[in-house]
Amino acid sequence: MNTEIKSFYRIYRPKTFSEVVGQDFITKTLSNQIAANKLGHAYLFCGTRGTGKTSVAKVFANAVNCENFQNGQVCGKCAWCQSQNKNMDIFEIDAASNNGVDAVRDLIESVKYPPVVGKYKVYIIDEVHMFSGAAFNALLKTLEEPPAHVIFILATTEPHKLLPTVQSRCLRFNFQNVSLNDLEKVISHVFKNEKITADAAAITAIAKEGQGSVRDALSFADTVAAYCGKEPITMDVINRVVGGLDAKIFADLIQQISAGDVKAVRDTVNQIFNSSTGTARILNGTLEAIKNAYVAQPTPRLATALRMFANLETTLKYATDPHGYFETAALVACGA
Ligand SMILES: [Zn+2]
Repeated sequence: MNTEIKSFYRIYRPKTFSEVVGQDFITKTLSNQIAANKLGHAYLFCGTRGTGKTSVAKVFANAVNCENFQNGQVCGKCAWCQSQNKNMDIFEIDAASNNGVDAVRDLIESVKYPPVVGKYKVYIIDEVHMFSGAAFNALLKTLEEPPAHVIFILATTEPHKLLPTVQSRCLRFNFQNVSLNDLEKVISHVFKNEKITADAAAITAIAKEGQGSVRDALSFADTVAAYCGKEPITMDVINRVVGGLDAKIFADLIQQISAGDVKAVRDTVNQIFNSSTGTARILNGTLEAIKNAYVAQPTPRLATALRMFANLETTLKYATDPHGYFETAALVACGA
């Protein structure tokens, strides 16, 4: 049994298109482009963090170089697949830490030389929106007419920060937030492989915590698994872990009630109930936050909130719709 703390996200990074979760349209399109030998020379991968942009970029970079790519799979047998020197043709640049003109000049210089092992040199530029204006300008011409053996993959969480001239030179793919169902499958798969026992409700709760991001879901799974040790993962455990994380959200809620901001209150209440935290914990967190705020400033809204929520304890315990009761209390306080 491995006792060191390891990150599920790193261990379970997809190695093939079929292992990529929730981006079927993108992996299928890329796969077809390779099979038809109709590759672009610059790709733009957009999407929120943890949706698989860099993972897909790596799978793609590997796949374009395989000599017998078929049915969405590399062959595993050709010179490229067998090579230990793939990193001589695949480059990853993190624009967040190398954002200057010098980094781009080095890149442009290296682009001229043919690939060493495979057919293509692939440059994966992560968080490309972090490049400085001068760096972008230096990159533009190469992006416009790169040598035939070069493919650029630009990945970004913030495509709106890119110059239109950059966007127009790339084939754009928008990565979707990963569905709850797909996240549940990923977590179940990881837990099964790691011989971790977890009940279905706990897996759903962990998936929800990911909010569409495989990385965030697996990172929360890491936390919960580490907390549990060898014990099975149950909702009770999740509530304990989540309960420790959420003090801020209750403070936010009370602040929004104080401001009478109905929309913000609704959104926050939804967020609280989507977190799968138990109702007792939600109520305690809320009352705690009201008391903290009340000490600083007793207002009619806070007084109403205190009264409404203090009366909810029994109701919430037996209610079939605790979310509805809780929201009503929050909105009544909001309007006080
Ligand atoms: Zn191959």
